[in-house]
Amino acid sequence: MGTSNALVIAGAGLAGAKAAEALREEGFDGPLVLLGDERERPYERPPLSKGYLLGTSEREKAYVHPSRWYGDHDVDLRLGTAVTAIDPAAHELTLADGSRQGYAKLLLATGAAPRRLSVPGAELDGVHYLRQLGDSDTLKETFRHATRIAVIGGGWIGLETTAAARAAGVEVTVLEAAELPLLKVLGREVAQVFADLHTDHGVEIRCGVQVGEITGTLGHADGVQLADGTHVPADAVIIGIGVVPNSRPAEDAGLEVDNGVRVDAQLRSSHPDIHAAGDVANAFHPLLETHLRVEHWANALHQPATAAKAMLGQDVAYDRLPYFFTDQYDLGMEYTGYVAPGGYDRVVFRGDPGSREFLAFWLSDGRVLAGMNVNIWDVVEPIRALVTSGRTVDTARLADPGVPLAELV
Ligand code: NAP
Repeated sequence: MGTSNALVIAGAGLAGAKAAEALREEGFDGPLVLLGDERERPYERPPLSKGYLLGTSEREKAYVHPSRWYGDHDVDLRLGTAVTAIDPAAHELTLADGSRQGYAKLLLATGAAPRRLSVPGAELDGVHYLRQLGDSDTLKETFRHATRIAVIGGGWIGLETTAAARAAGVEVTVLEAAELPLLKVLGREVAQVFADLHTDHGVEIRCGVQVGEITGTLGHADGVQLADGTHVPADAVIIGIGVVPNSRPAEDAGLEVDNGVRVDAQLRSSHPDIHAAGDVANAFHPLLETHLRVEHWANALHQPATAAKAMLGQDVAYDRLPYFFTDQYDLGMEYTGYVAPGGYDRVVFRGDPGSREFLAFWLSDGRVLAGMNVNIWDVVEPIRALVTSGRTVDTARLADPGVPLAELV
């Protein structure tokens, strides 16, 4: 294949679809190819462990665009088409069917895949991961029939699916390796709030446990054997122990890969004609002054606009603070900012965490690194401003609900 003037996006998830949208919005009117390995057109993942799983939001609402959008915008969306190899020098991709696709610029938006648990029994029927739309369908069906399930991993997937299972009347035991679910991301003070939330909803949380084996009868999972000798009976097992970036083709192509595809603030990789965005990108964050691979929805939503502009030669940088949200039972929260594991020296609460209506701030040397609003709304902007300012704050005023957050910036 000779040279191509096509812009090609590898990965048709949220990041890929938003990149296609941004390239057209920025005025690119040449050939635009969007390659996805799944058979579904691009969809958002939050509903898979929240509204869609709970049965409160429709499948159609999960999709990023209506199906006709791709044709209307002359986006050549090719589903079931995985990229298996990249030849950066030739500006050419090899696809799973052996065919080739040239590109002028390439965006890697290949996302991430669930980390697999490698213990005996992990391949039994009734052992599930949650990443794709079809997985959410499987879990919904599982919740209809199961009496009790075991959830391995008390991260966001584990806890959100636990809340959905409880809503369906299923008994849940959460098996977490760390001392508390969400300990690494939230720290002890706030992780405890989530542990209490689930305990109050009848969930059994077992922390500091090692899974030895998933046991089964006639090829179907019937429980989890822990290293301490206890057996947790379960009709099904859900595993949510993190994800790994889909960066193999990039690595094989000789791009710099280190916890994902390493990119600069313009989201450009070690090859000038290859960018990366979303879960697969380990991007330099100019404000936080570190490389960061963010696996949350908001990152996949916003990074592509910067990548698209950079691909078109504009001088841009992605400097948005990480943001994520969760809904579990009657608790809704948003989190803005970033704290490296153990990277704070104090948590300041505004309101009583026991009431589940409060703000929490993670501080280091008197500066706010991140803030969380729990069942309190319309405060993300002042929290973002507080974090971005990098100013030291008066912690008594920070804790005082009577002081507007904007006054602290
Ligand atoms: P995660 O949030 O990284 O949580 C994985 C959890 O499993 C961690 O608590 C981890 O403990 C624990 N773990 C690891 N190995 C284990 C083992 N062998 N046995 C028991 N526990 C183990 O990952 P996830 O929940 O799988 O979610 C996948 C990705 O989707 C994440 O990036 C997540 O942020 C994202 N997601 C986000 C949302 C949201 O923003 N609301 C919702 C769903 C998913 P250690 O930390 O000690 O390793």
